[in-house]
Parts: sequence; structure tokens; C-alpha cells
Amino acid sequence: MNIILMGPPGAGKGTQAKILEETRGLKQLSTGDMLRAEISAQSPLGVRVKAIMDAGELVSDEIVIEMISNRVEQADCAKGFILDGFPRTVAQAEALDKMLCDKDKCLNAVIQLSVDEAALLARIEKRAAESGTVRADDNAETLKKRLEAYRAQTAPILPYYEGKGMLQTVDGMADIDVVTGQIAAILDKAAQAA
Ligand code: AMP
Repeated sequence: MNIILMGPPGAGKGTQAKILEETRGLKQLSTGDMLRAEISAQSPLGVRVKAIMDAGELVSDEIVIEMISNRVEQADCAKGFILDGFPRTVAQAEALDKMLCDKDKCLNAVIQLSVDEAALLARIEKRAAESGTVRADDNAETLKKRLEAYRAQTAPILPYYEGKGMLQTVDGMADIDVVTGQIAAILDKAAQAA
């Protein structure tokens, strides 16, 4: 079972991906995490992408496509994978289709966790006020920027998957258990269709 999990920051992607890893043995593949690991390791690739990532821009399609192409071949992806943060452009989505097709590992579902941005911002502000400390990530301003980046950079690929009849949307503001149940239902249905 190979899926794409999409959604803006705060939608609960990380939580749901972890649950899918535990319950279905899928492997979460986050291009952001992979690139950050390259930077930490100060690899040639890490050195190349650091300034781009620091500026909040997208690294080139070629880089992320090659990274994912190599990664899905590894043994821990045998039961399938959850793509997180990839694809981010239509060119990446098209390249992914071709690459997976060549490897005989088709995509089974594209699941978008939707959020109510105003409610999300209110939640983050409340948490920061209650804790007294403002974690950089929880900062409302940072969140606003990341929501904008998602809308500008990633949301445009939704119509691509919608057009293929593959896009499923789940309300990411619902309770975790409810979201988990809805994702499970989508995956079970996709497994039957496969
Ligand atoms: P993320 O952790 O997914 O928010 O990604 C952090 C940063 O890594 C992004 O701002 C981009 O600079 C880079 N990045 C991650 N995934 C991709 C991708 N699929 N295409 C291009 N750049 C990416």
C-alpha cells in the first residue's frame, strides 16, 4: 500500500503517519526530514540545499525525485510507504507517477487532511499563552507563513490528483481516532480495489 499524505502544517500528518507505520507496517518518507539529515551530515547534497531550505524555497525537482526513487527501493518500504512533503509540484507528481509505474509500485491513495486555518491559529495561540513559552514552531506568525507556503506551493497539486479521481479528503480537525478511522476506511477500500 503506497500513499501520499497531504495537508498543511498542524493537520496531524505526523501523528497519522506514525499510526500507519505501527498498524500497517508502512514507512513514512518525508523529503524534508531526508534533506535535513543531509544538512546535518554536511554531505555534498546537504551543502547544496542548505541555503535554499533556509530561505524557505523548494529544492529542485531532480534532487527530491532521485532521493525518493532510491528510498522506495529499500527493504523497509517492502510493505509500502507514506509520502510526506512530496510531491510538492505538478512536475514532481508526474515524475512520481512514471517512476512508480516503472517500478511496479503504484500509488493506492492520495489523502488530504484538511484544516480550518482560523481554528488552527487560535489553537496554537492558546497553547503558547497557556505554556508561557513560545516554541518557535508554535509561534502563530511562523504558522501563518507555513500555511501560506502550503497554499502557494503545495495546494496546486491537489487538482492533479483530483483530476485522476485519486484525491480523498479527511477533516484533520476531527478527533485523532476519528481521523485514523476515516483513513483506515479509505485504505481498506483502496486495498480491495487493488
Ligand atoms: P518540510 O519539512 O516538508 O516542510 O520541508 C522543509 C524544506 O525542505 C522545504 O521548505 C523545502 O525547502 C525542502 N523540501 C522538502 N520537500 C521538498 C520537495 N518535495 N520539493 C522541493 N523541496 C522540498
